Order: sequence, then C-alpha cells, then structure tokens
Amino acid sequence: MLAFAAKRMGFEVRVIDPTPQSPAGQVCDEQIIADYTDEQAIRRLSAVSDFLTYEIELAHAALLEELTEKGVHINPSPKTLTVIKDKLLQKRFLNTKGIPVADFTKVTTKEDILKVAKKFGYPFLLKARFDAYDGRGNALIKQEPDIDPGLEKLAGRTLYVEKFVPFVKELAVIACRDMKGNIATFPIVETVHKNNILHIVYAPAHIEKSVYKKAESLAKNVMQHLHGAGVFGIELFLTKNGDVLVNEISPRVHNSGHYTIEACVTSQFEQHIRAITGLPLGSTEMLVPAAVMLNILGHRSGTAEVTGLKKALHVPNVSVHIYGKSETKPERKMGHITATGISLTQVYGRALQAKAFLTI
Ligand code: AMP
Repeated sequence: MLAFAAKRMGFEVRVIDPTPQSPAGQVCDEQIIADYTDEQAIRRLSAVSDFLTYEIELAHAALLEELTEKGVHINPSPKTLTVIKDKLLQKRFLNTKGIPVADFTKVTTKEDILKVAKKFGYPFLLKARFDAYDGRGNALIKQEPDIDPGLEKLAGRTLYVEKFVPFVKELAVIACRDMKGNIATFPIVETVHKNNILHIVYAPAHIEKSVYKKAESLAKNVMQHLHGAGVFGIELFLTKNGDVLVNEISPRVHNSGHYTIEACVTSQFEQHIRAITGLPLGSTEMLVPAAVMLNILGHRSGTAEVTGLKKALHVPNVSVHIYGKSETKPERKMGHITATGISLTQVYGRALQAKAFLTI
C-alpha cells in the first residue's frame, strides 16, 4: 500500500523483503530478496535511494543509525526505532516522558513473575519485548497455573509483565510529522481485537467529545517525544473513568489506519510518503461521515485462493483489498475490507455482509 502511494506520486520504489513475489515486490520497481536485517542488502538499497524508510519493527536499527550518521535520509529516525522495537524500553521511555501507560516491570524468572503477581494482582499480561506484534508475544495470565504455559509459549524470549487494563474501549490514532516538524493526526478510531489481533476499526470512534479531545492531545504529546518524519500508529486504552493510556506505538503505517485509503482526503500511506520525502502533509479530514474496516484473516494453511470477490463487491460502497500473499495461514492478515457511508451502523452492516462472502 505504501508502494502504491509512492508510485502514484511518481517515485521509483525498491524494497527488501525475504519472500519472493512479496506483496510490495509485486507492485514496485525492484524487490531485493533478503532478510529485513541483511546488512549487504540494506547497504545496496541505501546506495541507490534518495529516501529510505521501514515499515516493520524487525528492521536493522543499529545499521540504520550508522547510515543516518553518514548522511542517508532515513525516516522515521532509527533512534526512535531502537526505542520502539523493544516494548519494555518503549514503556520506560513513555513513562519517563510522563505519558500514561499501564504499570509494567521487567521479569526474567518465574520467581520474578510470582513477585510481580503479588504486587499487580491477577490477571496480568506476560509480554515478549521483541517481535511481538499481532499478539505473537503476549500471554494472558489469569491465575497462577497460567504462568508455566505462558512461559512455555514465550520460551527463549526476553520478557516483561504488564498490569491488565480493564478498558472499556480500545482507541487508535495515526499521527504524522513532516520534515519541518508539523504534526497532523487522523481521526481517533475505535479498534476491536480478538486473540490480540485487530479485527474491526470504527472510524471515527463513537466516544464523548471530551474523550476524543483527550486522546487527540495525548497523541500529539506522544509525537513531541518521537524523532523523525513519518507516520506513527498510536494505540490507546480508554478506561471506565475516562482515562486514556497509551498501549503501544508503531513507528510505521498501521492496520488501524487502513480505512484512510477510502475515507480520508489523504491516506496514511500517501501521508507517510509525503513526510519522508520532504513534501507537505495532506489533509487528514474524512470524506465520509463513517467508515468500518474489517481484516480478512486466513482460516487454513495452504496456497491462498480468493473466493467470493464478485459477491462481496455487489455490496454498495465496499472496497476489498487483497494483499497478494501466496500462502494463507490461520489468523494471517490476507487482506481487508473498508465500507464507507453515512453511519457506523450502516457501514458495519455493509462490511460484515461483504466479508461473509470472502475467503482466502
Ligand atoms: P499488544 O500487541 O501488546 O498491543 O496487545 C494486543 C492486544 O492485547 C491489545 O490490543 C489488547 O486488546 C490486549 N492487551 C495488551 N496489553 C493489555 C493490557 N495491559 N491490558 C489489557 N489488554 C491488553
């Protein structure tokens, strides 16, 4: 989606991706088939690029920092990536900046966890510090017997514990900074996760004005502390007292912002390309009163095969995005649907109707 946006603006796009014929590789000028952290590949890409960006936390932060010092334009700042990619470091960073986050603490052994359990009480989350998106690094510990299975699930990974937040809603904001330091935020959305994976985005979030404003100003505050140009995804918890906490930050375009393709004047993808290439930011206004995005997740393992597209596209004001991943797997993000219209009720109904036809 970033490559599409960049191509539309006339840029040549080259990507590194380990999977031949990757989704980005299919639509850009060149794909270098290599691991995201492959030093030689990154150096080769940087030698032929005017601007470099990354859209996965697995990127090689140390090498990108070195290249930045040599004058390569890399955004967002690799220093920010270094902080964000380690979820414990990220939480500490936010905490020291006075940004509200759930209580957390580093743990190494089961004894550490038992000690924290006494302090935090049950339930709590055992989380992996690295490579932990889409719930791959979380274990919910409801009571003491869940600790061993949790440790087993996250074996071999460095960990921390986070207090459970009994949120009433999860919210998210896509925020962006240009090279001059101007900041723009997209509408606050409500997100719904199942098994730690994003399933639904309601745009805009159906929340009180005061909460909306609080979330927006918190996102702007977070942006003051992150370096570099580009789009950041900021995920939030709303508690029943109306408090807003930061759950986590992604230094990249985010699944909660996919709705912007159809629903906003500028998509999060175009916004990111504008920001990292020194262009002015676009308007983040919505073009429609309401949008809903539903992820299309895989249900089986094997070769991906799309069925039901024709029926899905009979539903009015629905757009279907298929990512072109050749292998499907249970819970793998294979595409998404966005429905736009006059109310959240109307567009949720449309999105659900279309989704019922689709399998990948
Ligand atoms: P994460 O990948 O850490 O953002 O977690 C994925 C999802 O797990 C979140 O969107 C929440 O639904 C849930 N979750 C994560 N951390 C917490 C927490 N401290 N309290 C309650 N739910 C959480």
